[in-house]
Amino acid sequence: MIPLSEEKIATYLARIPATTRDELMAKRTSFRVGGNAKLHVTAGTAEALIEAVVAAMDLEVPFYVYGGASNLLVSDEGYEGVMIQAGNRRVTFNAERITSEAGAITGLVARQSVDAGLTGFEWAVGVPGTIGGAIYGNAGCYGGEMKDSVESVEVFDLKTRERKTLSTSECAFAYRESLFKRQPFLMLSATLVLKPSVDIAAGKARMEDIMRTRKEKQPLDASSAGCAFKNFEFENESELDILKRSVEVPESMIKNKSISVGWLIDQAGMMGESVGDAQVSTKHGNFFLNKGQARAQDIVALISRVKMKVRDEFGIEMHEEVQYVGF
Ligand SMILES: Cc1cc2nc3c(=O)[nH]c(=O)nc-3n(C[C@H](O)[C@H](O)[C@H](O)COP(=O)(O)OP(=O)(O)OC[C@H]3O[C@@H](n4cnc5c(N)ncnc54)[C@H](O)[C@@H]3O)c2cc1C
Repeated sequence: MIPLSEEKIATYLARIPATTRDELMAKRTSFRVGGNAKLHVTAGTAEALIEAVVAAMDLEVPFYVYGGASNLLVSDEGYEGVMIQAGNRRVTFNAERITSEAGAITGLVARQSVDAGLTGFEWAVGVPGTIGGAIYGNAGCYGGEMKDSVESVEVFDLKTRERKTLSTSECAFAYRESLFKRQPFLMLSATLVLKPSVDIAAGKARMEDIMRTRKEKQPLDASSAGCAFKNFEFENESELDILKRSVEVPESMIKNKSISVGWLIDQAGMMGESVGDAQVSTKHGNFFLNKGQARAQDIVALISRVKMKVRDEFGIEMHEEVQYVGF
């Protein structure tokens, strides 16, 4: 990484006075790892978010926009640029439509939607992070996905430097995928459309049920970034046949054309595997944990060890869900 010159730092600070220096990212990431961001801005409005990004582009300062940092693996060396946090959290309700700024907390939006007499977003109650981050990776669980509710996303196009609104089909959502992983857009807000609820109490009960199940099945008491890998969606029978040669694949996974990576990691005997203080959870094979003093490089080494073992045993190449920053 090329060090940022003091001159560039001073010019950026003059342009965006809310910027702080040497912000320890381990304090901000759900993994509790990551070195210093040379510069850091939390932008409380869409306009502040755009200003912070445009200043970085004008001054050729590397930048990285994030929300809740619940899906990030930030390097131990930190980030030699400006980390810009979307802290624009306003949420407004209009009948069945919710307009949520990108920095709004996903779980809170889920709870507020139920309180507002809506249904269809209860599944998101336990997803950490922000609406922007959830749209980026088309977050999902318990039968729901962002793509089911997103009607449009307001963005700042970094190429043309214009604000525009993308429809859900333009967002090209797929399993843990979206346009935003491939094109330089800054998300500002999104409009979600839900359904009117006939039973608010049932919505609340469903959310409590989900939270209970999550606590039972996931190691929520330790630091992680949720699932490290995407589940394996096989395209054809021959891909499945290679796996079938080594293990008995549960019918439910064959039917869904999706192999649970947590299950695969368990079958590979890698649950509990560790590198330093980084460990594969013994409760859920796709959760990689920081047991306390792990460094990003321990987590990276563990990810690669597990990836290799699964590839060697089952011929399956797993792909990370977690986003690398500063590597
Ligand atoms: C305990 C735990 C449980 C989890 N459970 C689930 C689950 O059930 N389902 C699931 O899908 N995920 C889950 N996750 C992963 C994570 O919570 C989701 O991916 C979440 O939606 C990320 O949101 P975030 O705001 O933290 O994104 P961040 O980690 O801050 O960022 C993720 C990506 O989004 C981009 N991004 C964020 N905001 C913007 C913006 N405004 N404009 C442009 N790009 C942006 C960033 O550049 C980055 O590439 C879990 C994580 C943890 C720690």
